Amino acid sequence: MFEKFLGGKTAVVTGSNSGIGLGIAHELARAGADIVLNSFTDAPEDHALAESMARQHGVNVRYIQADMSKGSDCRALIEQAGACDILVNNAGIQHVAPIPDFPVEKWDAIIAINLTSAFHTTAVALPMMRKSGWGRVINIASAHGLTASEYKSAYVAAKHGIVGLTKVTALETAKEPITCNAICPGYVLTPIVEKQIPDQMKTHGMNREDVIAKVMLQRQPSGQFATVEQMGGTAVFLCSPAADQITGTTISVDGGWTAL
Ligand code: NAD
Repeated sequence: MFEKFLGGKTAVVTGSNSGIGLGIAHELARAGADIVLNSFTDAPEDHALAESMARQHGVNVRYIQADMSKGSDCRALIEQAGACDILVNNAGIQHVAPIPDFPVEKWDAIIAINLTSAFHTTAVALPMMRKSGWGRVINIASAHGLTASEYKSAYVAAKHGIVGLTKVTALETAKEPITCNAICPGYVLTPIVEKQIPDQMKTHGMNREDVIAKVMLQRQPSGQFATVEQMGGTAVFLCSPAADQITGTTISVDGGWTAL
């Protein structure tokens, strides 16, 4: 249904050399969009990833290094992209600790990468979208943008914050052909989740399978991880004409987590 309808559009996806960002970039490319991939690294594999994605989907794909913890880098990313019809604010990190023990530098980094980066990229992208006459801002929040879990203070605060930023961006663009929405994934088995498994095994004295089934997916009534392809498909839908009047809202892709 969505075959190549994004031809001629440029999508910038922050934090897209792995996981959900990469999955979203693939689906937007499959729908015909040119892609700007990003992360803070500048490794040969990052550029090779861009070349293989371009070959696979027959679109232009560039990799631009920029550290989303730095406001100047966030702004430079969009400026260097030169065009930004679709902005996917996806870069994110996690740290888990009780509030009294939560390292201040981890709090600052999570707020900067998971929340403030989206303010900077959006600030530069909106004038470009206004100039081209069409735009989509898609913020990757989380089930933790709508509910909380203990020990994830910075992450939950940042994700609730990005849901708020989503609403403000939608209101400031409501009369224009620009929309802004947040996708709220439940658990998706990507590196950010893989890294939490050994700690959870220690904390709960469980093996890997039990941590996945009894700790992580216990929150997800479907009992299954959501996939990066499903996040990509949701992003593509938000870029389709069917979503022209969907703005300022959240779309949960969480196997029922937030229905609990
Ligand atoms: P991931 O670790 O695979 O991806 C994170 C991406 O962000 C990577 O490409 C990484 O290189 C990039 N990144 C990290 N720090 C950066 C920085 N300073 N500058 C630029 N890029 C940086 O994890 P993921 O699961 O794909 O997470 C992507 C987004 O989805 C995050 O915002 C995360 O909070 C959100 N999310 C993930 C899940 C899940 O279960 N995996 C659930 C809900 C929300």
